[in-house]
Amino acid sequence: MTTITLTDRKNAAISRGVGMTTQIYADRAENAEIWDKEGRRYIDFAAGIAVLNTGHRHPRVIAAVKDQLDHFTHTCHQVVPYESYVHLAERLNALTPGNFAKKTIFVTTGAEAVENAVKIARAATGRSAVIAFGGGFHGRTFMGMALTGKVVPYKVGFGAMPGDVFHVPFPIEMHGVSLEQSLAALKKLFAADVDPQRVAAIIIEPVQGEGGFYPAPVAFMKALRELCDQHGILLIADEVQTGFARTGRMFAMDHHEVAPDLMTMAKSLAGGFPLAAVTGRAEIMDAPAPGGLGGTYGGNPLGIAAAHAVLDVIKDEDLCNRANQLGSRLKQRLESLRDKVPEIADIRGPGFMNAVEFNDKATKLPSADFANKVRLIALEKGLILLTCGVHGNVIRFLAPITIQDNIFVEALDILEASILQASA
Ligand code: PMP
Repeated sequence: MTTITLTDRKNAAISRGVGMTTQIYADRAENAEIWDKEGRRYIDFAAGIAVLNTGHRHPRVIAAVKDQLDHFTHTCHQVVPYESYVHLAERLNALTPGNFAKKTIFVTTGAEAVENAVKIARAATGRSAVIAFGGGFHGRTFMGMALTGKVVPYKVGFGAMPGDVFHVPFPIEMHGVSLEQSLAALKKLFAADVDPQRVAAIIIEPVQGEGGFYPAPVAFMKALRELCDQHGILLIADEVQTGFARTGRMFAMDHHEVAPDLMTMAKSLAGGFPLAAVTGRAEIMDAPAPGGLGGTYGGNPLGIAAAHAVLDVIKDEDLCNRANQLGSRLKQRLESLRDKVPEIADIRGPGFMNAVEFNDKATKLPSADFANKVRLIALEKGLILLTCGVHGNVIRFLAPITIQDNIFVEALDILEASILQASA
């Protein structure tokens, strides 16, 4: 069976609403490499969209899941609980930023974690409004979609969004929004649209992911924390994409001097198995009544087993340090191209959460076409890249932090050749 006929079958069988960026049908994968049905090998710098900080099929993750398979695969924690769920909650309570008592719940996807964080914040504050940021991404469920700060393609055609959601601009200096302007917009919102006493939470990605890999300035996060404390608003950090060593610290909030009240986690938490979590201040997490939170598959034993192994690997393989090393090598290589490639507008990102942003060399405007050209040339050469950004002009790098050195160098060579070819 060839990939061509698979593409035809896919088009006939699957909603076009599920967008696809490649037509590579996976056959097998190992750490930072994927082989397709025809035996072609690719280096994977997408990692299932930030899921595989510990690589495809890390041997310790696979061993933990195999062991769990031999014990039980599902009981539903709300019916017959298991110790591994409790232990993982204890580990996340200890690992997440904030020197206070914490509690955790497990769900299955990032969007579900966001939904639950908002439910918990509403229950704890007795308020309903939520503030999010332009360009932010929080998932495709209704509340996730409402909080997401981008209309096309996420909200278009889906009708009325849940109410009491407000957006303010995210501070991105290079796109003309300073930290001060962003804070002024918040204050204007409080004056013009919503009484801060009605606001349950402000939700923020400490580094915007889908929106373009823009880190929130430390001073901004501090100012948000102060504003939240002043008005009794909860601060929710959405660490679905930034968590688990990606930014060179366990969590992106570890780069900030303040802690959130609630944190959402998913993706690399379980190294390729569906698991998500909300961790937060114990008294806030306890606000919903028993039965108000949960779900049939939340905290599935296989995901929990995988997550324990992921946390062990991050520690034992020193992945935070490795992320910093890989990130600085990647950024150096990109910097070395600046003189030759006028389209490069910015190179950024903490740890190994890096991105390169492209503008058209004549107009100096964001160029999604150039970013896409680089992505397609690289794919042709065997390197899977992802774009992102409100303007679609950013290439983001999400390679496994466990990537072998020789494969990393090979990928950098392909990346360099692809950018040069696109610019020629
Ligand atoms: N929040 C953030 C910051 C994300 O990056 C994503 C996924 N890209 C989500 C939430 C939604 O996660 P999921 O796709 O697992 O629902």
